[in-house]
Amino acid sequence: MAETATHEPSTKLLLEVVTPDKLLVSEYVDQVIAPGSEGDFGVLPGHCHFLSTLRIGELQYRVGERTAYMSVLWGFAEVTPQKVTILAEIAEKAEDIDVERAQAAVARAEARLERGGLPSEVEEAKISLEKARLRQKVAERLKHQRGL
Ligand code: ATP
Repeated sequence: MAETATHEPSTKLLLEVVTPDKLLVSEYVDQVIAPGSEGDFGVLPGHCHFLSTLRIGELQYRVGERTAYMSVLWGFAEVTPQKVTILAEIAEKAEDIDVERAQAAVARAEARLERGGLPSEVEEAKISLEKARLRQKVAERLKHQRGL
């Protein structure tokens, strides 16, 4: 009887994180956790084809024992069994985040929220606060990793 050809299952995923300005990540990884609009979703190699919009949130990816963190602000994710493409409007790697800038942005947004104003101004301030707090959280991950 003829043997059925088998494919080696692919054990890695190619992760690409792209913004309108640049390609931030192009790396083979073991797992991705992305901030979908409907909630975080995890992807392992072999995942079925899937499309999602992204919210303001943290992107995590693991290579072996190492987990990397990024802030992602809106965009889309496309998942195939071998690849995850994150097309983000804005994204930063944890190590590229300017913590003082994020701290200043939090203070500005909080002051704006305290002042109040038109609903659109309040909404804008809430989004600024969410973005800045996310950047603080993602930057903090590095401190924890370094045991600081
Ligand atoms: P800020 O109020 O501090 O200027 P912002 O929320 O207005 O920030 P965005 O519009 O979200 O900034 O982003 C504009 C650009 O600045 C993007 O390229 C983004 O990656 C970068 N950026 C914003 N904040 C930071 C930060 N804390 N560290 C590194 N890059 C940042």
